[in-house]
Amino acid sequence: MNSHLHFDHCGGNEFFPRATFLVQRPELEAARRPGFVPGYSPSPMDFEHALEYRMIDGEHDVFGDGAVVLIPTYGHTPGHQSLVVRDGRGPQLVCAADACYTRENMDRDVLPDVLWNPSVMRDSLATLRKLRDRAGATMFCGHDPAQWAVTPRAPAPVA
Ligand SMILES: [Zn+2]
Repeated sequence: MNSHLHFDHCGGNEFFPRATFLVQRPELEAARRPGFVPGYSPSPMDFEHALEYRMIDGEHDVFGDGAVVLIPTYGHTPGHQSLVVRDGRGPQLVCAADACYTRENMDRDVLPDVLWNPSVMRDSLATLRKLRDRAGATMFCGHDPAQWAVTPRAPAPVA
């Protein structure tokens, strides 16, 4: 899956030619029509290769068993999505990607400068905050150097 189509989240797609990329429909449609959505024009050179993109609409259970679920977290871009992983035992893991740059963004309800729609992004951030604060999810932020510094490296488990 691609959380969204900013270069730093899809620029390596071309190196996975047999993968199927799950992307939210508004994300791919906006990306393929530069200028169609004001304030969002990712570069085709980063994602427009001979690859299989599958557009999805809203929440999507990847394997049909609830273990890996994509949730729409629009706002940073028109079709940003985050990844929720459940193993059936412990609390879930959430890869927020750029719906939450850093823990401070979530804790202080502060939005970054790079975004498409602030009110939509704030709603998405609130959704993620509920997963963390009410459901006990471990939240991985998209660009948080402090979190990265203390995150275990493979092959060690992250949670
Ligand atoms: Zn981004």
